[in-house]
Amino acid sequence: MCGPDWLEQGMNHVWLPYTQMRTTLPPLPAMGTRGCTITLADGRELVDGIASWWTACHGYNHPHIRAAVATQLERMPHVMFGGLVNEPALTLATRLASMLPGDLERVFFTDSGSVAVEVAMKMAIQYWLNRGRTGRTRLVAFRGGYHGDTMATMAVCDPEEGMHSLYQGALPEHFIADLPVDETSTQALDALLRQSGDSIAAIIVEPLVQGAGGMLFHAPEVLRRLRELADRHGVLLILDEIFTGFGRTGTLFACEQAGIVPDIITLSKALTGGTMALAATVARRHVFEAFLSDNPLHALMHGPTFMANALACASANASLDLFASEPRLEQVGRISEQMRAELESCRGLPHVVDVRVMGAIGVVELERIGDMNALKSALIAQGVWVRPFRNIVYLTPAFTITPAELTRLTTAIHTVLSQSA
Ligand code: PLP
Repeated sequence: MCGPDWLEQGMNHVWLPYTQMRTTLPPLPAMGTRGCTITLADGRELVDGIASWWTACHGYNHPHIRAAVATQLERMPHVMFGGLVNEPALTLATRLASMLPGDLERVFFTDSGSVAVEVAMKMAIQYWLNRGRTGRTRLVAFRGGYHGDTMATMAVCDPEEGMHSLYQGALPEHFIADLPVDETSTQALDALLRQSGDSIAAIIVEPLVQGAGGMLFHAPEVLRRLRELADRHGVLLILDEIFTGFGRTGTLFACEQAGIVPDIITLSKALTGGTMALAATVARRHVFEAFLSDNPLHALMHGPTFMANALACASANASLDLFASEPRLEQVGRISEQMRAELESCRGLPHVVDVRVMGAIGVVELERIGDMNALKSALIAQGVWVRPFRNIVYLTPAFTITPAELTRLTTAIHTVLSQSA
């Protein structure tokens, strides 16, 4: 491997995510980011098509976020959240409560999406326990779903999906159903809830887009059906908006398109504009009230050491400022239109089975990807940072991407898929 010394030495010691360390391509040393570009150690610049796992919605190094973090760094980078609170966290909680629909108004901060989902699962289970309803310990999740990599969240991911299938024997059992996209699947879910409702705490779903499960889209009507079924059978509804939250599907939150209010919502990724690790689990008033009691055991027993980190919360507040001061949702609309026009040319290419776009998510689905390493290398050779997975090549760019940068991305995908035909 050639590159800086720290790369060669460090690669003997670091363990990379989702990576077969024996056969993987060497990772690229990123030295700097700006706007929608990543600069590598050898000076190459890649146009970023995926905004660092869907987080950097304002592009990298936005001056407003940098300034907010620098100011907070001077004042107080971190102070524990047990018994002490900090201004950026409380301001952020107030702002999130006013932006989210309905009475989603009680914010529990964590430091990663998976943990935010775990907290949502604990809240849902304990909601029933605190109300004296024992036995409601299972969730209903959906085929194609993805909610994280921890032991609890793996148990509500699609069990057949390759990434977590190995662990199945070690995971608690939940119900995995088909999304109620048509009459048959709606009736099947209705029957499941009728038969097993007494053991079910909540339904959990990624609204409108199942992301890591394959960028699978569904209509807002599906969410309305889920809200209706949850109400009919008296179970909670958790929406995991870790991917979809903050504009990605065209509205600030995906649930707005269905006009529904979940009982609990999880947020992360673009919450800080991609600058820092932060997540939030936000509950409706009635969920929070189930934890109010003279019995100390009815409290929510969770508290990550770095929860509500002041730097991360300052960065999230600055990110929310940008949603108000810059035309983010209009930009998403423009990206949507451009991707729809430009990715369409991939539809005729061999092995392409679908091209779909929602908000600032563009997907080219293939029958299968034969040589993943070759595909990744070819994309890098085109000067773009795009990470295909499973059988899809997708774009989730920063909302600030220029039309010319976006065309570079769509052209690179078209070129590479044409070559590999
Ligand atoms: N939930 C959804 C919908 C996600 O897309 C992800 C990450 O991709 C997670 C949960 C897990 O988040 P994290 O990787 O921060 O733990």
